[in-house]
Amino acid sequence: MMNRIDYIRKIAANNFWGDMARSPQDRQPLDDEGWNSLFISCLVNRGIQWERAMGSATELGFVNEMKMRSGIHDTLTLFTINNDVLLEWLAFDDDGDYAAAGGRNGSLLRYRYTVEHCHQAMCRIRDEWGGSARFLHADEPTGQQFLQRVMSFGGYGAKTSGLYCRVAVLSHGVTLWDNYAGLDISPDRHCSRVMTRLGLVSEDASPQEVIDKARELSPYAPVEWDGLFIIGLDYCHASDPECSICALIGVCGSRC
Ligand code: SF4
Repeated sequence: MMNRIDYIRKIAANNFWGDMARSPQDRQPLDDEGWNSLFISCLVNRGIQWERAMGSATELGFVNEMKMRSGIHDTLTLFTINNDVLLEWLAFDDDGDYAAAGGRNGSLLRYRYTVEHCHQAMCRIRDEWGGSARFLHADEPTGQQFLQRVMSFGGYGAKTSGLYCRVAVLSHGVTLWDNYAGLDISPDRHCSRVMTRLGLVSEDASPQEVIDKARELSPYAPVEWDGLFIIGLDYCHASDPECSICALIGVCGSRC
């Protein structure tokens, strides 16, 4: 008979592999330009939605917009040479100066703050990684090695780095030495809330404690616990959770 933890893990895994990750045959390999484009796209997209993140690099519009504005169609070149669009953003310290000088406004304005990181990232990719972000994973590192390499880039925090690694593996077929064991859960508010209500972590658990719990419960694929995201989004709302239609009602001590 399936115990309580096994049941919760099965629900999380079903959600994750069914709705949040592409099946292996649907994963899309990228060329060098695709990897550089994806690397920059994830770098500038803080707070990116799962639905968008699991798509292809071409669905992430910032790099394409930069290419269109500059007329430079190679991501490595775009962010390493002193082109006009890049210089325009780097030249101003704040929005007031930028607007007063007639700078471009609109949807791309917020990206101006990340352009320096993009520039530094592509310079490092050019100088240390053979000109392609593909070489960050080409030797089939462990998940943690891959994560540490990505996190070593300015602007890539723990959450964004984890997202990039998951997209690389689950959307574009990167192979890791330890397969899925090195891919961690993203301890976002939905996952953390559900894990708390299920009694798997304490109410004041840190993101690292949520990650550690997922590793403990599923050492072969901690990322599966991201499937609780769907439970949190659809049923286990911050207020007024819909316990009566939640698949976990039979194993949840917090049900109402
Ligand atoms: S039963 Fe209720 S409290 Fe428990 S996980 Fe489901 S929605 Fe959340």
